[in-house]
Amino acid sequence: MKYLDAFRDGAVARKLVEKLHARVADYAGQMTFMEVCGTHTMAISQHGIRSLLPEQIRLISGPGCPVCVTPVDYVDHAVALARLPEVIIATFGDMIRVPGSSSSLQREQARGAGVRIVYSPLDALALAQKHPDKKIVFLGVGFETTAPTIAGAVLTAQRQGLSNFFVLGANKTIPIPMAVLASDPELQVSGYLCPAHVSAIIGPQAYAPLVAQQKVPCVITGFEPLDMLQGIDMLATQVLEGQPRVETQYSRIVRPEGNPQARAVLEQVFIPCDTPWRGIGVIPGSGLCFREEFAAFDAARQIPVDVETPREHPGCLCGEILKGKVRPADCPLFRTICTPEDPVGACMVSSEGTCAAEYKYGI
Ligand code: SF4
Repeated sequence: MKYLDAFRDGAVARKLVEKLHARVADYAGQMTFMEVCGTHTMAISQHGIRSLLPEQIRLISGPGCPVCVTPVDYVDHAVALARLPEVIIATFGDMIRVPGSSSSLQREQARGAGVRIVYSPLDALALAQKHPDKKIVFLGVGFETTAPTIAGAVLTAQRQGLSNFFVLGANKTIPIPMAVLASDPELQVSGYLCPAHVSAIIGPQAYAPLVAQQKVPCVITGFEPLDMLQGIDMLATQVLEGQPRVETQYSRIVRPEGNPQARAVLEQVFIPCDTPWRGIGVIPGSGLCFREEFAAFDAARQIPVDVETPREHPGCLCGEILKGKVRPADCPLFRTICTPEDPVGACMVSSEGTCAAEYKYGI
């Protein structure tokens, strides 16, 4: 905690809050800032950031929880693969509890299907080495932070000549959906708290087209309370000055060039493609698909399986929550029949989900 304490200092927080209140005191309008990253969503709730803000500033949550934005038909596809006796699904923990149309990976696991929780794609590679008679399918869910590690695992599998390692791909990129939401007149996004980890890979320049086209301020912000208060203050300053730009509050981690090595690995294996987002629909160019030369690792192409027609719970508002249009409390199922122990939608499952954050910490 030694190094975190400096970013949680109450006296400094009070000064930042006073500064922010004074800065917007004469502002007659409303500033709506969207935090894009699920980790921000959780941290904002955990530290009660909303309660510290002046009434002119409203925070809304965006589509930055990777498990939440993965649509139900992907879960159904994973469930269908898990039912094949020759397949072992390897996945990060949150995914196994996400409800599909009629089942989940957790239920399939309880029925005896091969479903393993792993902590990195390399763990899935180790499974493939250990079980040469099985097909190991890693669930490729996540943004630009996770995609390079998956690409690295694919390159390693290729080098090792592993023919039983596959990825069911659903990786996505962040700046394009931000542009889509910035152009939504219902939302009126005044600025973005840009994701910290993703930005460490893609670098600040990745948001330049968004700022140029949509004239929306962007501040790459860290996860500690003082980071977020400072990031919000920087956004408010940009709004008041009327000069949208990309700024980096989280400069202790995010370099101007991002991480070119990680991007090179990612681009070696994946190309941009159209992909569906829960609640938003298909966004052109916002997904990452295998390049043709890596098609042998693509579970969707290499392991044919029938997938049921997707159905979502009609009462779940997760899609609207991911667009920042409603809060969890607007959902009649929130805290009644939808709880972290028995989630109805993905937003209640994930440790980065908006519903899970508000269930745990309140607004
Ligand atoms: Fe969906 Fe549950 Fe959130 Fe309601 S509370 S939107 S049912 S995840």
